[in-house]
Amino acid sequence: MAITRRSLFAAPLLAAVPARALDPRPTVASFSILADMVREVGGPFLAVESIVGPEADAHVFQPSPADAQKLARARFVVINGLGFEGWMPRLIRASGFRGTQITASRGIATIKSKEHGHSHGHSHGHSHGHSHGHGHGHSHGEHDPHIWQDPRRAQAMVRNIAEGLAGADREAAEAYRTAASRYTATLAELDAWVEAQFASIPRQRRRVVTSHDAFAYYGARYGIDFLSPQGVTTRAEPSAQQIARLVQQIRRERITALFIEGGARPRVLEQVAAESGARIGGRLFSDALSGPDGPAPNYVALIRHNTRMIAEALAG
Ligand code: ZN
Repeated sequence: MAITRRSLFAAPLLAAVPARALDPRPTVASFSILADMVREVGGPFLAVESIVGPEADAHVFQPSPADAQKLARARFVVINGLGFEGWMPRLIRASGFRGTQITASRGIATIKSKEHGHSHGHSHGHSHGHSHGHGHGHSHGEHDPHIWQDPRRAQAMVRNIAEGLAGADREAAEAYRTAASRYTATLAELDAWVEAQFASIPRQRRRVVTSHDAFAYYGARYGIDFLSPQGVTTRAEPSAQQIARLVQQIRRERITALFIEGGARPRVLEQVAAESGARIGGRLFSDALSGPDGPAPNYVALIRHNTRMIAEALAG
């Protein structure tokens, strides 16, 4: 889908600009979802590489010398900001990057981060706790960084990307802005489509649990409560007491579905679902695209996939 869209888009531009302008500018995006947005805006003018690729976890990412080399060659670097890529500022400094840095979240209204202290503190008591025990290893600032989960905010991100590129690359400025307005129109359609998927689901049924607390913006936009209680935010085995508390909470708060990050369905959560009456939904993509053959190879597909999974689970 992305390939079709891109090639359709490239044809008129190729005819309109001199060949020299088409030397694609080496560009680095911090993670796969952002890289997709940057490609949509940059079209043939940018050669975009992602530091954290599809299916990879930006939270526990360790940059390599090869990543510093990518940055050293880049003309543009695009980051999300809001502390999402806590490792990025140091990497940029270390690389000797001399291009233009664009922060996609700039000026966009944020939601405050939830307190994650409980899951961190808890997970360290378990043998697997340190590296995989909690959903969020990135430095959490005051603001929830997952703004791309709201397609309206994603439109603002796209405009930021386009303006950042246009301001530093006059030759292609008009092309960036044109591509951005076309892409934001697609995202506006996407937003309306998502809204329509939930229209028939009563507000009080729209309560789900996720293992990764990444959907506050999506939830705020579409009126869905996402809860990430202790016991699912840790990938380590919860205690019997935690399971009991979780089952109680799910019943008390009338939670309809549980979404567990990653493909695995821990047996304890099957048990929680069975005891609480909530169902286990399909896989949601939060911070990375899938591979090209997966269900979320680009941002639009990611939002569509997550929406189908959530709407299906809520419909019951
Ligand atoms: Zn995250």
